[in-house]
Amino acid sequence: MAHLTDIHLQPEGVAVESTIATLKALHERSDRPDLILTGGDAVMDVFAQKAERARTLKSLWRQVWSENCKIPSRHCIGNHDVWGWNKSRSGCTGAEPDYGKKWAMELFEIEKPYYAFTQGGWRFIGLDSTFSDGEGYKARLDDEQFEWLQDELKRTPAPTPVLILSHMPILSVCAYIDGNNEKTGHWAIPGDWVHIDARRLVNLFHRHPNVKLCLSGHLHQYDRADYDGVTYICSGAVSGNWWNAQTPQYYQTQPGYLMLDLYDDGSFESKYVRISFASRRDQ
Ligand SMILES: [Zn+2]
Repeated sequence: MAHLTDIHLQPEGVAVESTIATLKALHERSDRPDLILTGGDAVMDVFAQKAERARTLKSLWRQVWSENCKIPSRHCIGNHDVWGWNKSRSGCTGAEPDYGKKWAMELFEIEKPYYAFTQGGWRFIGLDSTFSDGEGYKARLDDEQFEWLQDELKRTPAPTPVLILSHMPILSVCAYIDGNNEKTGHWAIPGDWVHIDARRLVNLFHRHPNVKLCLSGHLHQYDRADYDGVTYICSGAVSGNWWNAQTPQYYQTQPGYLMLDLYDDGSFESKYVRISFASRRDQ
């Protein structure tokens, strides 16, 4: 399988050509994946955007994805896929029929913002990490989703390995590298970067040793943390440094995506595949 996260599709710059080229190369690989998971932030942003821009991005994503992705794919919601929660900038009232998560659910054609399915003997759980907080957001599950996750893990037979997909990381190494901690002399990881309810989730996973792998994005850096039998990987970003063609790398991470082989015994192998941005056709 492949994990493509933080595509941040937009009509400007090299985004469209590079996304299409990445999907084409993925389809042509000798180890062509059976499944693509995308990790959220599919579009550059609708969180703080007006209706017209949101419409443009929705039809762009739908067109690019339907024309260029023939491999079965499942998506999870990122903060930038939630329409209008920044009301002062989006001009939303909250009464719009596709306001907030509805917009993202329509984009990805999913019934609920979180879900589970089985493929190749693994149970895949897609979470919705974006929790409303004033005009912004925090990375956490609400109680309803947490209870659903608890039940979902209880229902999953113990020998079935579980992969959890979320936009924001549950545990992260690279969050220490971003930010300005030297100034304050304290390590401070904002609650909109990494799941602020990580302790509750880690405690839950401890009771279910078949939870093997948690994949995330959001931080645009590639890292891996192993804790209590679970591997947490933040899979960089297809858009790298938000499609900056002059400086595509964000900190030490090049634009790219993760390729994985998942095995029946719950083990796996993974590799970060770097991509180069396409040059624009009009240049
Ligand atoms: Zn994000």
